[in-house]
Amino acid sequence: MTCRKCGGLMYKEVIYTQQGSLLVFRCIHCGEIIDPLIVTNRR
Ligand SMILES: [Zn+2]
Repeated sequence: MTCRKCGGLMYKEVIYTQQGSLLVFRCIHCGEIIDPLIVTNRR
């Protein structure tokens, strides 16, 4: 998976929120975080 902003490589990361753990993708170049749920909501 590549970053939409800069085309950089993204890796999976688990973040912890009040709702529980959440799997997201983080860009190693610009730090962009893509949450699969957020991506769905934007459409
Ligand atoms: Zn990026």
